[in-house]
Amino acid sequence: MRVAQVVLDIPTQALDVAYSYALGECADTVSVGCCVLVPFGRRKAAGFVVALRDSSEQGVDESKLKPIEQVLSDPYFDEDGAACAMFLAQRYVAPLSTCVRLFTPPGGVPSVVKAGSGWQVRQPAVGQVDDRWVRLGPNADGFEPRKGAVKQEAILSALRSGELRVSELVAEYGNVSPSLKALEKRGVVVVERRRRMRGMHERAQTRVTEACRADAAQANTTMTVVDTAQVESHHVEGHLVQPRAGYASIPFESVEKPQLTQGQKDALAEISRAQSFRDGHVVVVDGVTGSGKTEVYLRAIESVLNEGRTAIVLVPEISLTPQTVARFRGRFGDLVAVLHSRMGTGERYDQWDFIRSGDARVVVGARSALFAPLKNVGLIVIDEEHESSYKQDQAPRYVSRDVAEWKAKRSGATLVLGSATPSIEALYRAAKCDSWSIVHLPERANGRPMPQVQVVDMAREFGGGSRSMFSLALRGALAETLRAKQKAVLMLNHRGFASFLLCRDCGFVPECPSCSTSLTYHERGSKLVCHHCDHQERVPGTCPQCGSPYLRKFGAGTQRVEAELVAFLETLPDVEAKVIRMDSDTTQRKGAHQHLLEEFAASEAAVLLGTQMIAKGLDFDDVTLVGVINADTQLRLPDFRSAERTFALIEQVAGRAGRAELPGRVIVQTYSADAVPIQAAAHYDRATFLRDELPKRRQLCYPPYARLADVRIWGKNEEEVREEGMRLSEAIYERLETLGEAGWTMLPATPCVLSRLRGAYRYHITVKAPPDADIAAVIAPVFHARTAHKTVNAAVDIDPVSML
Ligand code: ADP
Ligand code: ZN
Ligand code: ZN
Repeated sequence: MRVAQVVLDIPTQALDVAYSYALGECADTVSVGCCVLVPFGRRKAAGFVVALRDSSEQGVDESKLKPIEQVLSDPYFDEDGAACAMFLAQRYVAPLSTCVRLFTPPGGVPSVVKAGSGWQVRQPAVGQVDDRWVRLGPNADGFEPRKGAVKQEAILSALRSGELRVSELVAEYGNVSPSLKALEKRGVVVVERRRRMRGMHERAQTRVTEACRADAAQANTTMTVVDTAQVESHHVEGHLVQPRAGYASIPFESVEKPQLTQGQKDALAEISRAQSFRDGHVVVVDGVTGSGKTEVYLRAIESVLNEGRTAIVLVPEISLTPQTVARFRGRFGDLVAVLHSRMGTGERYDQWDFIRSGDARVVVGARSALFAPLKNVGLIVIDEEHESSYKQDQAPRYVSRDVAEWKAKRSGATLVLGSATPSIEALYRAAKCDSWSIVHLPERANGRPMPQVQVVDMAREFGGGSRSMFSLALRGALAETLRAKQKAVLMLNHRGFASFLLCRDCGFVPECPSCSTSLTYHERGSKLVCHHCDHQERVPGTCPQCGSPYLRKFGAGTQRVEAELVAFLETLPDVEAKVIRMDSDTTQRKGAHQHLLEEFAASEAAVLLGTQMIAKGLDFDDVTLVGVINADTQLRLPDFRSAERTFALIEQVAGRAGRAELPGRVIVQTYSADAVPIQAAAHYDRATFLRDELPKRRQLCYPPYARLADVRIWGKNEEEVREEGMRLSEAIYERLETLGEAGWTMLPATPCVLSRLRGAYRYHITVKAPPDADIAAVIAPVFHARTAHKTVNAAVDIDPVSML
């Protein structure tokens, strides 16, 4: 007798276990991963089967179990998926149902709703879409419609030049179904259903080159060669081309496999060694921007495909552009599936289903692609591993790198982490763990040098009386670049804007007397607050260091910078340049990001001005100047990763200049010209940066020397939030006392830096544990014991990336 373990699709901490059900009449149809209808108390609910076990092994009396009433879906995931969901729930103290939901298809799952006195199942609105296609049948030759059967005649003449969708016939000839039925009966036409792949006809012209064709042959892949311009008329060389699954709309890129550089060869040798272990070995590929990391991924994927295994490539959301996808399609053709939040739901569903079908062998996607139903995974690549978008900031708050490592271990795959600026955690583990290794690609693939970086001290600049956002150096460089009809990229470091106080004359930033972090400016009450120890002081009227009255919240939005830039360009009569602003405002519409980049590419002289998002994957040959307007704003954020992020951002954005023949230069404007992260980045000197940063991390017990958990408490009533914060602090403290383990600390509830968000007051508790501690095991019981509060919410973020 078998028993099913079912996770109810009801996200509450209170129901956070799998329940046992008998299989009943569904014994033959149910399997792990199915959505099922089950009775639960006096109601009915949908749930997901996470395990099937023998009742003896389970120690349950199955006669007491209620049976599963109905199987509502095909399996969404297998045992590995179920195990991964359990792992996530446990590691991140997240509701099991939200973890299981990561594995379900885009567009939703069946739900159960109250209908009158009973319960009704609703299937999701999104699913497979079929088209009915008509083609000539075996008896078409020599068939003559009888006189006056005008429609039959018209249909046949249309079909003689190829197959058509019924909908297309209808559009042309009105109601055709009686005629089609008559013709079908005689075997003159054949009508059949075929799957439609959405996203296919919406965009992009496909051009497949001979080089690409040859490449696919070499890579042992099959490829349907299509030109979508012709697909619209449904024919290529006289044959109908049925858009293939996963083929979607992104064009192939013509690719010749380059001769590998020594660095690429070394990286591949290490990956290949790792692959032979089949034990989840991790390889960090530390390669400067332009060193050809993508080529390394492509070759590594090729080798796992040759072994009959599959690959997942994670790319930060913002760099998951058509160009990126085209590089993978160029090599692997229609074996590539793409999962991206900016695709429509129908399109994502089709890609998901294409993966589940087993025909997709390579999945390229944002972090959620980790949970795609891809079988037999031999390689997981995380590109730009240091990116903070790999942390999911809603429950389950997982860290992609750690989940990928777990997954790789379980399936005997290899994990490749690529970056020009690997995270400190990755560097640390590569140095300490036997199951990690690191390879370096210190040079660009085309042999070009990295651009020179000039640091401009803005405090000194303003000493001369100027109040411009652009230094003399930057203005001069902009004029030169645009006169030469080249391009410039200007980055505004948006993070941390207006959240601290800065003296515009001497660069002084008020700091906490006991924490060595900058104080955060709070609009409310006009005060400065330390987010570590809750030290507070009034905003001073003049600079405590130099007496200047120009103390202000440092901040300028992209719009203001744009206005000043345009005004500056107007003073240059011999320069005609386009200014393109890219920020969260101008990129809201679907495809806007892509459109702006295309506009930039098409312009002759142009300036691309934007926030962090422009630092990613931008690869234009004629960008010769990169300017960072305000390199230090992030540095001032009261977050232990601020220095690391500042260092990484400068290195990344510098890598956008001078990628091809034209030499590039980089100008970094800052009020902290001497700060180590800025100086080190300007000299591409990671060792110096780490020598400065690591002792601080160690001393303050931050990763990689500790694990963190950030418990957040929020609600509309501040007093209640504070009280609940104190209560939870005490509960956690008691647990730590009882366990009595060394090396744990806790900072009791204090207001978050973002002390109010969408009308809610926010407090947090920070728990620090030794690096190898099971921090969730200590905190989970406190959370599970917590009874739901009417007005105050609480959640825990294990291994938080941001603590604001
Ligand atoms: P990264 O991801 O490391 O920044 P890319 O993979 O984008 O670098 O490669 C940068 C450029 O170098 C691309 O235009 C790529 O086509 C090219 N490239 C990669 N490998 C080689 C090689 N071995 N020889 C010549 N060019 C290469
Ligand atoms: Zn001052
Ligand atoms: Zn403090």
